[in-house]
Amino acid sequence: AKAEGRNTLRFYSPDLESSSVNTISLETDLLKAISHEQFILHYQPKVDLGTGSIVGAEALLRWMRPDFGLTSPQTFIDIAEETGLINEIGAWVLNEACTQAAAWQSLGYGPFQIAVNLSPVQFFRQDIVQLVGETLERTGLRPEHLELELTEGSLLKDVERTRLTLQQLKQLGVRIAIDDFGVGYSSLSYLKNFAVDTLKIDRSFVFNLADGTRDEAIVRAIISLAESLGLKVVAEGVENNLQLGCLLSHPCDEAQGYLFSRPIPAEAFGTLMLERPRY
Ligand code: C2E
Ligand code: CA
Ligand code: CA
Ligand code: CA
Repeated sequence: AKAEGRNTLRFYSPDLESSSVNTISLETDLLKAISHEQFILHYQPKVDLGTGSIVGAEALLRWMRPDFGLTSPQTFIDIAEETGLINEIGAWVLNEACTQAAAWQSLGYGPFQIAVNLSPVQFFRQDIVQLVGETLERTGLRPEHLELELTEGSLLKDVERTRLTLQQLKQLGVRIAIDDFGVGYSSLSYLKNFAVDTLKIDRSFVFNLADGTRDEAIVRAIISLAESLGLKVVAEGVENNLQLGCLLSHPCDEAQGYLFSRPIPAEAFGTLMLERPRY
C-alpha cells in the first residue's frame, strides 16, 4: 500500500510530485546497484573498554551512487525494504563482511568479531538461517565471530517465529545483538522473550552522557541490567572523552564511535588493526 501511494499521485502537489519522481529514480538506480558493483562496506571498530584494543567491527553499507557520491543507508534502506531489494543487498553485505572478516582472521589479527545489520524484512524470510549458515560455510568464518545486529522494532512482530529463528541462528553459533537498545517502547519485553547476547545502547542516550545527568542514570541502569542477565553491553555513538570517562566508570564492555574512528574502508581498517590504537 505504501509503494502504491508513492507511485500514484492522488492530488496535485509540486512537492509531492518531485519527491515521487525522486523515489522512482532512486528505485531504478538501486535496482542496478548490485550488478554494477556500486556497494561497498565501511567498517567501524568496536573497542574493548577494559584493554583499549579493537575487538571487532560493525560493517556499514555505503552506496557509490552515480551523480550522488557516497550515499548513507539512511537514504535508501527504507526503499530497499519496501521493494524487497534489501534481500539481495543484505545477502551481499553478509557475504562481503564475512569474507573480509575471514581474511583478517587468516592474517592473524587475533580474536575479532564482525557485526552485520539485519533488516527485519530479511529476518522474517523463510531462508534466513540457511543463508547465514551457507555464508559462513562458503567464507570459512567461524560462527562465533559473526554477530547479527537486530533493531528492537523488528522482533516483536511475531514472537513465536522470532524466538524460533533466533534459536536456530544461535544453534549455528552466531551471536545476536539488540541494536538501538532503549529507544523502542518494548525493550524489556525483548529481554524477557528472546535469548540475545549483546545490547547496544542507542546513541541518543550516549549523546549527552556526563556524570550526574539523567542519561547517565539510564545508561547505568542498562549496563547493570545487561550485567545481571549476563549480556555484553556496547555503547554506540561515543564522540568525546566525557562520554568515554562516564562509560569507563560503570563499566561498559565495549564502545564504538567517532572518538575511536569513523566507519572506514576495509584497507584503512586493516591498517588501524595493525596499529592497535589505545585510548
Ligand atoms: P546503526 O546500525 O545504528 O549504525 C550506526 C550508525 O551511527 C552508522 O550510520 C554510523 O556511521 C553512525 N555513527 C557511528 N559512530 C557515530 C558517532 O560517534 N556519532 C554519530 N553521530 N554517528 C555515529 P550509517 O552508517 O549512516 O548507518 C545508518 C543506519 O543504516 C544504521 O544504523 C543501520 O540501521 C542501517 N544500516 C547500515 N548498514 C546496513 C546494512 O548493511 N544492512 C541494513 N539492513 N541496515 C544497515
Ligand atoms: Ca547497527
Ligand atoms: Ca545502532
Ligand atoms: Ca540506528
